[in-house]
Amino acid sequence: MIPGIFNMGHVKLHIPGPVEVSEKTFRAFCSPMIGHRGQGFKDLYARIQPQLQQLLYTKQLVYISTSSAWGVMEGALRNLVSKKVLNCMCGAFSDKWFDVSQRCGKAAEALQVPWGSPIRAEDIDRKLATGQFDALTLIHNETSTGVMSPLAEIAALKQKYPDVMFIVDSVSSMSAVPIKFDELGIDVLLAGTQKAFALPPGTAVFACSPAAIAKAAQAKDRGYYFDIIEFQKNAEQSMTPSTPSIGHVYALASKLEDIFDEGLEARFARHRQTNQMTRDWASRNGFNLFPEPGHESITLTCVSNGARPGGRTVDVAKLQKLVKDQGFLIDGGYGKIKGTTFRISNMGDETEASMQPLFAALDSALKQV
Ligand SMILES: *Cc1c(COP(=O)(O)O)cnc(C)c1O
Repeated sequence: MIPGIFNMGHVKLHIPGPVEVSEKTFRAFCSPMIGHRGQGFKDLYARIQPQLQQLLYTKQLVYISTSSAWGVMEGALRNLVSKKVLNCMCGAFSDKWFDVSQRCGKAAEALQVPWGSPIRAEDIDRKLATGQFDALTLIHNETSTGVMSPLAEIAALKQKYPDVMFIVDSVSSMSAVPIKFDELGIDVLLAGTQKAFALPPGTAVFACSPAAIAKAAQAKDRGYYFDIIEFQKNAEQSMTPSTPSIGHVYALASKLEDIFDEGLEARFARHRQTNQMTRDWASRNGFNLFPEPGHESITLTCVSNGARPGGRTVDVAKLQKLVKDQGFLIDGGYGKIKGTTFRISNMGDETEASMQPLFAALDSALKQV
């Protein structure tokens, strides 16, 4: 941490976003400002474009949006829904997407499963078979419940329903697990930078399929700030439609350097390891996990604290406080499962060594709750 600025009284973040940001990233974020229409910015964006494409396994251009993820989540609806959208809902963020569809004036239908369950391909298939829909929204890793839905199985439906736009939020999974955009055949893949990328909040990255770009071009009320056509036209010139958060682009360049120095496979393996370590801590201490077995997230662990039958329960607020006093912030559960679950993130730069002190703090806290 940069002495005097960042480490004074700082509580290390193990909440599922924002997550801890490294000193190297912060230094990059603080690079001197440049003009966003100048060659310096174009060179910067052009330099990271191939890395972004490699990270998303795509030949499409990857766009940078100065907004949190919700900007792109809302924008995708405005660009791509003309008939009716199927909102696949399994937790707070995916449930909210249905609400946002309605607020955008779109015809929308809920495919709701209980929190803790994944979205299943057969349920989507049954809905799409009605022929009513021209788009669907799916959250790959539902951060509120710690559930990862089977993206490959769901994306395989695209072949059966080529005219339906598959809009996928990978906010808390992109860069931590492989998501092969072109191979999956999905239409939009988006993420905010404050989750697995471990950058400060305030920027999102996303890619669109050629079919999505073609469909957006026909959409009348797609607006300006999140217009996919503007993003595509500008990205072709290594620019963004409006003035981006240039600090974020520097930080992203620094992070991509880290990602490719480590190697994608090693990065994915590291997330699996630190996640396993968290699950092991939970089971060692008598806790159950909240997600349906077999559908647990790899980037965060949602621990049951009474939400599931059996298993240990503790006073979560007290646990949080005891852990915070030792310098770590964990999450006390989201929305309607606040308190009956709690969440621990292993996203971003965490290693087994960097997570060890958190578990030591949790163990010591458990003796007092
Ligand atoms: C955090 C999160 C969001 C919302 O991101 P904002 O940065 O607040 O816009 C959306 N989807 C998922 C899965 C998330 O984890």
